Amino acid sequence: MRVYVSVDMEGVAGVSHTAPTGRGDAGYPAACRLMEGEANAAVAGAFLGGATEVVVNDSHGPMFNLSPEAIDERARLVQGRKALSMVEAADEGRFDVALFVGYHARAGHPRGTIAHTYTGGPTLTTLAGRPTGEYGINGLYLGALGIPVGLVTGDDALADEVAEWLPWAERVIVKHGRGWQAADSVHPNVARSLIAAAAQRAVERAAAGELEVLRLATPIEVGIELRHAGQADFAAVIPGFARVGDRGVRFMAADGVEAYRAFVAAVRLAPVADE
Ligand SMILES: [Zn+2]
Repeated sequence: MRVYVSVDMEGVAGVSHTAPTGRGDAGYPAACRLMEGEANAAVAGAFLGGATEVVVNDSHGPMFNLSPEAIDERARLVQGRKALSMVEAADEGRFDVALFVGYHARAGHPRGTIAHTYTGGPTLTTLAGRPTGEYGINGLYLGALGIPVGLVTGDDALADEVAEWLPWAERVIVKHGRGWQAADSVHPNVARSLIAAAAQRAVERAAAGELEVLRLATPIEVGIELRHAGQADFAAVIPGFARVGDRGVRFMAADGVEAYRAFVAAVRLAPVADE
């Protein structure tokens, strides 16, 4: 069983505010230790569940947050400025299941802690007209590669969204959202125990064929609302994109891989309008 783990930071137990999620903040090293703890819990659980190989993709911000020597030595670690971002290296072949650790609710969610989608740019993202977040966009990409998402960890707002988008996936709630930059969190050790057990179940259930891959009817409409009209104008320069509404763009994707690539291209291009 080959297991792919994408690890973000905003959904980790004990992280409630955006400040320590940024490099340079005095609290950033401690936040990285919390992120490593949950990543390792998922790796350990995956091996208990029968994993033979685990790849960890450092999926937050500049994407070199995890200290390599702190990560379980049985796992490989993907880091750095990756073209395919939170799903880099997932296409390297034959992963049986993906685990999302430290994830968070979508941009625009009314109560999710540090709810956003990739950058501060998109205020709302939809797939086939349904609001979604990183779990949905990444899950759709992985689904196109035949990889089911077996576990998603983060706050209660995220768990509610995942129940709709990836109902077969194990869900671990490590904190309850108390607002945009506030959360009520379990102790990191409790979170790690929950994540390890759920990761084990996810891998076991993947081996038993109990998980589904996320697929949507094609073509897939990707809708993105941006911070202001200028950002939408810039994103709409991408071939195939249409400019819609006050500050939105729309793209019809042939499949999940194209939908993902279109989304990432648009959110990277849009902020150039602010320069
Ligand atoms: Zn994120």
